[in-house]
Amino acid sequence: MSLREQLCEYGRRAVELGLVIGTSGNLSVRQGDQVAVTPSGVALDRLTPEACPIVDLAGHLVEGELQPSSETPMHLAVYQATGTQAIVHTHSVFGTVVATTMTELPPVHYNALLLGGVVKVAEYATYGTPELAANVRAALAGKQAALMANHGGVTIGATMEQAFEATRLLEWLCEVYVRGLAVGRPAVLTDEQLAAVVDRAANPPAFPRRPS
Ligand SMILES: [Zn+2]
Repeated sequence: MSLREQLCEYGRRAVELGLVIGTSGNLSVRQGDQVAVTPSGVALDRLTPEACPIVDLAGHLVEGELQPSSETPMHLAVYQATGTQAIVHTHSVFGTVVATTMTELPPVHYNALLLGGVVKVAEYATYGTPELAANVRAALAGKQAALMANHGGVTIGATMEQAFEATRLLEWLCEVYVRGLAVGRPAVLTDEQLAAVVDRAANPPAFPRRPS
C-alpha cells in the first residue's frame, strides 16, 4: 500500500471505530524525507489518495492540491524528535476526558507498558502552533503515546498499523481508568510490579513438545 493509500485505509478505520468524528483527527506516515499527511477539512472516511498532501520534513508542500492538516507542524516536530515512521492523532472520547481532567494517565493495566508506562498529558497550547508541537514532543520523550491537554491523544509507531494500534490501546486504557474512577479508586501498578511484567515478557514460558 502506498503512503497515501495507508492514510485512506486507516482514516476509514478511525471513523468506523468512533475514534474521530467529522474532520477532527489527523494521520501521517513517513518514508525518508517525505511525509504523507491527511488534508485539512476532509473527513477521514472520505479521503482519496490524491487528496492527501505530501510534505517534506521542513514543511514544504511537495505534492497535492489541498492544504495539509493544521496539525502538520506537530507531526513534523515529532518525526524530527523521535525518528518514528507514523503518527495518529485523534479527539477520541476517553482520551480527551483524561486530557481535560488529569496531568497523566497512571498505569492501571500492564498493557500500559506497550505505550511506555505512564502516559503524560502535554501542556495546553492552541492547536497547530509551534508551542503545542514542542509540548507534545516533550510529553512523548521515550514513549509511544501522549495526551494533549483539553484536546486529544497522539501515538507513534514504526508503521501506520503500529501507530493506529497504539491509539486503540491508549483509548482502551483511558476508558478503563475513567470507568474505574466511576466505580472506585483504581489501583495503580507499582514500579516493582511493572518491572516484573517486563521480566516476564523477556522470559516467556517454554512448552516442550511431547516426545512421540
Ligand atoms: Zn486535534
